[in-house]
Amino acid sequence: MSSAQTSLQGVTARVPAKVNLELMVGPVRPDGFHHLATVFQAVGLHDDISVETADDWGVTVNGPYADLVPADGTNLAIRAARLLAREAGIDVPVHITIDKDIPVAAGMAGGSADAAGALLACDALWGVWSSRTALEALAAELGSDVPFALLGGTAMGSGRGDQLAPVLGRGRYTWVLALSDTGLSTPQVYAECDRLRAGVRVPEPRPSASMMTALRSGDARSLGQALSNDLQPAALSLQPRLEEVLRIGMDNGALGGVVSGSGPTIAFLVSDTERSLDLAVALAASGAAPAVKRAVGPVRGAHIITATSGPRGSLGSAGHTGPSGLRSS
Ligand code: ATP
Repeated sequence: MSSAQTSLQGVTARVPAKVNLELMVGPVRPDGFHHLATVFQAVGLHDDISVETADDWGVTVNGPYADLVPADGTNLAIRAARLLAREAGIDVPVHITIDKDIPVAAGMAGGSADAAGALLACDALWGVWSSRTALEALAAELGSDVPFALLGGTAMGSGRGDQLAPVLGRGRYTWVLALSDTGLSTPQVYAECDRLRAGVRVPEPRPSASMMTALRSGDARSLGQALSNDLQPAALSLQPRLEEVLRIGMDNGALGGVVSGSGPTIAFLVSDTERSLDLAVALAASGAAPAVKRAVGPVRGAHIITATSGPRGSLGSAGHTGPSGLRSS
């Protein structure tokens, strides 16, 4: 295929951030990645990724984090769009606009979300209509967290975190996210984890029974106690003031708190909206967390929110609702 198969001119996908409820880091694999066993939850903090047919490839990033994100060919959204174009034999450049609300280098998979959104939006714009399996395979090529950004909800990840199994759980959880003003580089956090564990025999990672029981029951108190992250000591070693943030959260009503992914965001679980407001105020007043956001989870993965046709105008909300709605081939 060398040209678009639809009359769409623009498509916007919305993609959530993630927190890791549990992250077990196993031994280093021959390819340099670590064996992981993780439980992801998609939370209601989103980037919107819009793609439009254009004369040349390009990307614009809007929002408070725009300066931290590359606006060239290294942007993960552009890389995702180009990968799909290559695979599908498409020769139609797009301009990508990212309205970014997911903090950058925060352990919330913002770049992965943008890659997933670009895949889904370009897939619709170009009329490729890839199967869910095909999109997931491209997502995994782009990064370990990209398949989960497509899937959303709550899921177990194994391998590099890219082999997913949805977790059927109950419950809607309220999170308070304590952000840092300095990001952490994921490779640096893994290197610090390896340094701290040097000489220690690291077992193969396995999801814990307590996490699965908590998610099945939907009991926020049990989930709060089950939160854990093997990268937390490394993140705290690189940003020691996170200890203080954790302490303030636990002293102010959190049911549990954990560094999300490679950090430095700390995700606090609270029992309800009122508690989330109290905790957000306490964290902000302490000065220990430069910014605080609140979100609920689980939420759905990448989905299309608008599609615009060519001369005939907007199609409004798209009927196509994400990878689960794709035809299988
Ligand atoms: P993860 O938890 O997936 O390891 P993260 O959430 O900690 O990653 P990201 O926000 O994905 O971190 O950003 C990691 C780096 O990727 C940033 O330093 C940024 O320069 C780069 N990057 C490339 N494209 C993007 C994008 N579209 N959005 C955010 N960061 C991007």
